[in-house]
Amino acid sequence: MKHFDYIIAGSGCSGRSLAIRMLPYLKASNKQLLLVDKSPKKGNDKTWCFWEKHMDVFEPVVYKKWNRLSFSSYFIRQELNIYPYEYKMIRATDFYTYTDEKLSGNPHITTIKGNVERLYTENEQAYAIIDGEVYSSDYTFSSIPPIQNKRPERYQYLLQHFMGWIIETENIIFDAECATLMDFKTPQQTGTSFVYVLPVSPKLALVEYTVFSEQELATEDYTTALKQYIHEQLHCEQYTIKEQEYGVIPMSDHPVQRQQGRIIYLGTAGGFTKGSTGYTFRFIQKHTAAIVERLKKSGNPIIPSIFPKRFKTYDATLLHLLGSGRLSGEEIFSKLFKKNKAKQILKFLDNETSLIEEMHIFKTLNKKEFAIALLNRTLRIIT
Ligand SMILES: Cc1cc2nc3c(=O)[nH]c(=O)nc-3n(C[C@H](O)[C@H](O)[C@H](O)COP(=O)(O)OP(=O)(O)OC[C@H]3O[C@@H](n4cnc5c(N)ncnc54)[C@H](O)[C@@H]3O)c2cc1C
Repeated sequence: MKHFDYIIAGSGCSGRSLAIRMLPYLKASNKQLLLVDKSPKKGNDKTWCFWEKHMDVFEPVVYKKWNRLSFSSYFIRQELNIYPYEYKMIRATDFYTYTDEKLSGNPHITTIKGNVERLYTENEQAYAIIDGEVYSSDYTFSSIPPIQNKRPERYQYLLQHFMGWIIETENIIFDAECATLMDFKTPQQTGTSFVYVLPVSPKLALVEYTVFSEQELATEDYTTALKQYIHEQLHCEQYTIKEQEYGVIPMSDHPVQRQQGRIIYLGTAGGFTKGSTGYTFRFIQKHTAAIVERLKKSGNPIIPSIFPKRFKTYDATLLHLLGSGRLSGEEIFSKLFKKNKAKQILKFLDNETSLIEEMHIFKTLNKKEFAIALLNRTLRIIT
């Protein structure tokens, strides 16, 4: 049986983020890490957007950043000054190339392609069965999505599903310094839906149609919505589709196990996808940074929760409100953006506000509907 100090099972966003952050620690402590994934990571399978105040380890692969955002709906149109944050975009292809370069050839890293069939803990060791072979480690970090057979009715299960096109236009259409965070001027019949527009130049942008609902749509529904938005809202007739992105992100308040013995879960598998928005990238960065800090201090990677538990309750309440259909996403987000400073909203969505700051935000929302959703959710959980 082969033994490594650490195994990272799944080398996507969170697996690679952790591996990169661990490099100095592995060198200083002369430890060995195995990184395993069933599929080679190549190509631009996604585009990550997130906001942050400072530069972090993946700054070298930030493709574009914006200081200004806009929010639009049938109720309001706001330009948002997000200082001290910047909204950033990383293309997966650059992220994979950059991390491959940093990890390959490193004497403390072994990378293999293989299917992780099982993970378990026994006698203070973590075990991984990879293509029929058993590997042991002191700790295993896994971002492999758990198989969720049971979906108790008391939890909300929505999907954030989206299709995006990188379009190149014949004429100047975009303000390359202002990204559209959400534009609700889209058909709302199939669920809360909006478009975001991320311009990288006056003639090139990612235009993404996003829906929050229980089920995905047929392909032609996404393409129809995209064409309609480009025609009616961007007033653009002549364009070429350079790339297409499609994705589904689970939005749920179903509890997630963060650790099982010597196995520590990362990324979406570890519950680091924010239930109410789907944003994950920054939570992955905070979580993996905290693991490495703890490793450096004590040699033990098990950490307490990286944010207060009340944020899970807020996310769950919003999900239940969206699921109940009593208020539309457009109404909720329009109020939020109309009555609060953008930097406060971003701080809140980052799970970093204080209780007092949260009370100020809640005062601006539809208190009665949120209270009903919170009550319904609580009753469903305890009964
Ligand atoms: C298209 C798309 C766009 C997104 N955009 C954003 C965004 O803009 N901002 C944001 O914050 N979040 C975004 N997300 C959400 C989230 O950031 C990503 O899903 C992110 O990749 C999650 O990282 P992860 O490590 O949890 O999962 P992944 O990156 O999917 O990594 C999991 C890895 O496990 C491997 N694996 C699975 N099963 C096995 C197995 N049995 N054996 C071996 N390997 C296995 C997979 O091949 C994969 O490489 C997006 C998601 C998608 C799908």
